[in-house]
Amino acid sequence: MSLVVYNTITRKKEVFESIEKGKVGMYVCGPTVYGYPHLGHAKSYVTFDVIYRYLMYIGYKVKYVQNITDVGHLLGDSDSGEDKIAKQAKAEMIDPYEVAYKYESIYFDCMRKLNVKRPSISARATGHIIEIIDMIEKLINKGYAYVTKDGNVYYRVSKFKKYGSLSKRTVDEAVSGKRIEASSDKENPEDFALWKRAEDNHLMKWPSPWGDGYPGWHIECSVMSKKYLGSFFDIHGGGMDNIFPHHECEVAQSEIANDSPFVKYFIHNNLITVSGQKMGKSLGNFMTLPDLFKDYDPMVVRLYILLNHYRRPTDFSTDGLNEAKKMYEKITTSVSLLRKEVEKLEFTTMELVPEVQELKEKFLAAMDDDFNTGLSISYLYEAQKLINKTITGDKKPSMLLALDNFIKDCGEEILGLNFKNNNDSKEEELIEIINDIRKKYREEKNYKEADILRDKLKNIGISVSDR
Ligand SMILES: [Zn+2]
Repeated sequence: MSLVVYNTITRKKEVFESIEKGKVGMYVCGPTVYGYPHLGHAKSYVTFDVIYRYLMYIGYKVKYVQNITDVGHLLGDSDSGEDKIAKQAKAEMIDPYEVAYKYESIYFDCMRKLNVKRPSISARATGHIIEIIDMIEKLINKGYAYVTKDGNVYYRVSKFKKYGSLSKRTVDEAVSGKRIEASSDKENPEDFALWKRAEDNHLMKWPSPWGDGYPGWHIECSVMSKKYLGSFFDIHGGGMDNIFPHHECEVAQSEIANDSPFVKYFIHNNLITVSGQKMGKSLGNFMTLPDLFKDYDPMVVRLYILLNHYRRPTDFSTDGLNEAKKMYEKITTSVSLLRKEVEKLEFTTMELVPEVQELKEKFLAAMDDDFNTGLSISYLYEAQKLINKTITGDKKPSMLLALDNFIKDCGEEILGLNFKNNNDSKEEELIEIINDIRKKYREEKNYKEADILRDKLKNIGISVSDR
């Protein structure tokens, strides 16, 4: 068995071989922090979270880098229009740094609820202005970028012959439909901004050799991937809508600035659609995660995303979410009953159970086939039926333990689902509250009340220690 991944560069499934044995460097384009994260973000970051988890599970040491775009992402996605964060700042009447910090923390909070692991490094664009200026200077010196009289710097696309090879577009196709703004100071319409001059009232700006300004969106990813992963690294991920122009531009910048190939495998997740149209903040047809979490447990949302292969679009529907909810509840109930039986066992055994072993092999084979989570979940569902059969039948210890391990490894560690019964977690929270009260009594040297609480907890089988 070996892992096979679909590589956007070749449009083929390829056997995965890391550049350095046993190690993987992975860069995924992070959020632009100017609004509430929505289901589209969840699909992308849950997808790469599972890829991250699976690579670690099969033994790789993974360095996972994700950027936080807190400056430079313009409304037009390329280099026209207002900065998305600056616009939001005006709407909320706060400064752009406040906007970025506010939505960054909401983003991480939503990801935590979805059980998405924090990347090894989360890098903010505003923390890398020196390196950005440095890379732009390299591109200018090599003749691949030019400074205009207005103080803007653009990439000279016609000079990079490979431009369009990732998205399989010719430069003409890439430009068609693109309006040349009347005020544009570009040599050619396909050129893209590396540095934009800031107006006097623009708050997020930095001094540069070309005057006060701020970086374009594409350059930050070239700079941050180079800084943390080197010139050539294993996996670059993002949503399919990033292939063009964003990743195309990254390739053009990085390959020239670093004199090196850029990425071995480009992996792109498909989008969330609403009646066939992309879900996005700019399109106004999105559902924010905090709103969605009011009606659905974040674990249900995670399962809903994973039921579909990451390269297929997910057409948003409440029917689909309700199906996922039923499934999640069924598995959670069974796992909770299973764990009560496992707790009662007085010994553990590592005895292999062929039936469960076979399920696990099938599960891993599905994951090896370009992370086919939809198929792998069907084996999780088979395990759930086997759990019910076992706990209502002979309760054979080796079977109980093997099933518990299967759920821990495949369902929880790899897929990142959490099968904790809500009532169980409430119980834990309650015990914590009681324990806090007890601690307070002890701090106040009210040992009598503290001991009464301890004895009452002991009576229901919960022992507490004062260490
Ligand atoms: Zn990026």
